Amino acid sequence: MRLPKLGTRFEGEIPKNIEELCRLGYVQIAEVNIAFCKGRNGYSLSDRMLGCRTEFEIPYQKKDEVVQCPNCGCEYDYDDIVITLKRNKELVRVDYEKMTNKVIEQVQATGCTVKSIDGFLDKKILNVSGKEYLMFFDCFGSADLMLDNESTNTVVNIIFGNSENLKYPDSLIRFDGIKIITNGFNDEIYILRDLPSSNLIIEKLRRVSEVEAEVLKLGSQATWQAVENELTNFFLQEIQIRVIEKYRLKNLWRIYPHLSRVTVNAAGAGKADKITIPLQEYLDELLVDQFTVDAKCYSTTTVSSSTIEKVQHHLSKDGFDAKRVIVLATTNNVTCWEDVTHYKNATGQYRLLIFNARITAVIAVYFGFDNEFLEVIKECINGA
Ligand SMILES: [Zn+2]
Repeated sequence: MRLPKLGTRFEGEIPKNIEELCRLGYVQIAEVNIAFCKGRNGYSLSDRMLGCRTEFEIPYQKKDEVVQCPNCGCEYDYDDIVITLKRNKELVRVDYEKMTNKVIEQVQATGCTVKSIDGFLDKKILNVSGKEYLMFFDCFGSADLMLDNESTNTVVNIIFGNSENLKYPDSLIRFDGIKIITNGFNDEIYILRDLPSSNLIIEKLRRVSEVEAEVLKLGSQATWQAVENELTNFFLQEIQIRVIEKYRLKNLWRIYPHLSRVTVNAAGAGKADKITIPLQEYLDELLVDQFTVDAKCYSTTTVSSSTIEKVQHHLSKDGFDAKRVIVLATTNNVTCWEDVTHYKNATGQYRLLIFNARITAVIAVYFGFDNEFLEVIKECINGA
């Protein structure tokens, strides 16, 4: 959860989690009274004021003072004006020091160590299972990070407020500070433990390009009949059985969401140039309990809307209730990405899943079966 900005007004109920933070003393919420300038009676004629008949705010700290209407200058005793007001709640103070101290306390409670860096209130050295991270908090206006040094260890950013508009490097791992305060630091330890280093991620990205190039080269030599069964079965089966890799991949994508998206070319008359395929949702679709698949493998031909129509026609003719159609393509020559998004928009699910060479390479590399996958394609060529 993210803290709302200072000065945020809550009309009616205060959100439960904010209320809890308030109870624990991390934030302060005060009433802002809206007063009605009704005028004032006085002992003498000169004391009397008509009032301007408008509403104005009484700041929370002014309770014991004389309240003056900012519009007409009419003055009221606080007790006199309370009668006509309605109340709003406003977030007036956030005790970031208390919050950061609590986060550090929670981190230390799990056996991890936190070392201070002299002169920096917002930066610490975090040690988890022998690995060191630079940890910083987003609440002290510390946008001036010294992160340009590439040799810096992976940086852990503890977020309280909304700092989405700041540009941070990709190597940044972001954790929700309030979640740590509430639930402790155990989940985060596992994430850090299982997260590959930035070097490894870069290495995998390089490997994806290599594998993609190989798939394109080999795929053009294989006939689709030769590869359809074996390659598709191998691909789907590896995704199903590699449970640990799947967990690590989900972990990785949660921390680095941009790695879970593949942009594909959808250029064509009247079409969007690029479409983003969210691999996380793609995979979720493949991993649901029950599904029937008609997997088609295309090696050299373009995958177009008419190919998809043929597949669907073929399915309906056989009375085969295919809930999902999976198209494994060893090419990037796909012109019907819009069909993919169309099914998603129409049914709420990715019913049509196209794996082009790029997406196939990403999945194979991150699931760790890239070498075997290329071997299977080679076998398909030799066996053809
Ligand atoms: Zn007034």
